[in-house]
Amino acid sequence: MDKQALNQKIAEWCGFKFVSFKNCERSTQEDKNKHGDSLCHVEAPDGVITDAPPDFTSSLDALFKWAVPKLQLEGLVISLIAYEYSGFGCLITPFLAQEPLIERRNSESPALAFCLALEKLIDSNSGGTLDA
Ligand SMILES: [Zn+2]
Repeated sequence: MDKQALNQKIAEWCGFKFVSFKNCERSTQEDKNKHGDSLCHVEAPDGVITDAPPDFTSSLDALFKWAVPKLQLEGLVISLIAYEYSGFGCLITPFLAQEPLIERRNSESPALAFCLALEKLIDSNSGGTLDA
């Protein structure tokens, strides 16, 4: 999964809505005909309309604003790790549990490690199995 697809997956899980021209109430008939299924706008969970979702794969600010509260509601704790020599890790652990449910490492950024752990969580909640 490339970063853009991963980002969209995280955004949708956080509650962002991706609205095509076809489905946008405010787009003109001409735009609907011309752009159809292309993305018209993104609606944030707080109702704010933007052109694109936050870049979760590179922004811990965005993750802590939109993903962490949702994880907390589900009783999950996030831990970010900077390893001794290189790379980053993200643990998702149920509140009061000893062992993490999910652990993901990434050499590029802590935000990407967080997104990869979230992806695993999303997949496991939609019928997949956990092998972390
Ligand atoms: Zn629109």
